[in-house]
Amino acid sequence: MAEGRADPALAAVLEYFRDLGVRELFVSSALPGTAAGWMADQEALQAYLVDCSRCKLAGSRQRIVFGFGNPNADLMFVGEAPGREEDEQGIPFVGAAGQLLSKIIEAMGMRREDVFIVNTVLCRPPNNRNPEPDEVASCRPFLQEQIRLVAPRVIVTLGTFAAHAILETDEPISRLRGRWRSAHGARVMPTFHPAYLLRSPQHKKDVWGDMQNVRDYLARQPGAR
Ligand code: URA
Repeated sequence: MAEGRADPALAAVLEYFRDLGVRELFVSSALPGTAAGWMADQEALQAYLVDCSRCKLAGSRQRIVFGFGNPNADLMFVGEAPGREEDEQGIPFVGAAGQLLSKIIEAMGMRREDVFIVNTVLCRPPNNRNPEPDEVASCRPFLQEQIRLVAPRVIVTLGTFAAHAILETDEPISRLRGRWRSAHGARVMPTFHPAYLLRSPQHKKDVWGDMQNVRDYLARQPGAR
C-alpha cells in the first residue's frame, strides 16, 4: 500500500481496538516494506520471496535456501548462511557441518525432521565469505517471519552471526555461548557453529553441554514457554 493512503481494513481493526478501550499500540519497525507478520505459512513466505533480489547475494546464488523441518517445532536451529552444497540442493545444513549438526540432533534424542533449521541469510555468500551487514539486514524480516511462524520454545544459535542477529548484540560468541537468553518469544541458547567444531573439535564438549541443557529444558517443561 502506498504510504499515507488509508487502509479501510486496518482502520476497522483500529476502531475495534479503540472501542475495546485500547489507547496505545506499539508497532514494530522490524519489518518495513514487507508483508511480514502476515504470512500464513512457510509456503506463503517462499512464494513471496521467489526470485528475491533484495540484496547482492541474489546475483551469485543458485537457490534460496529456506528453513527446513517441522513447521511446528519446539526447537529451532539458526545457522549462518548456506554453503556450496546447500546452494545446490536448496536445503540448509546438508554439507559437512550439516552432517555434524544431524549427529548433534540425534544425540539429543531427536531427528532432523523434528526440529526446524534455518540460516541468518537465505542465500550463499560468494566463496562462503561472511554475510555482510546489509545482507543480514535484508534477510532479517524473513528470519523473523520464519521464527514467528514456527514459534519455537527454544532457539539454538550456531556461531557468531546467528547469535548477533537473533540477540541483536555484538558480544563475542565466547561470552554468549552456553548462557540462556530470551528473544522472539523463545529461550535462546547460543553455541558454537558446527563448522567451527570441525576445525576445533576440542570444543565439542562445550556444545554438547549446551545441547544437554536445551534437551533438559525441553523435557522439563513440555508445552510451557
Ligand atoms: N553453515 C551454515 O551456517 N548453514 C548451512 O546451511 C550450512 C553451513
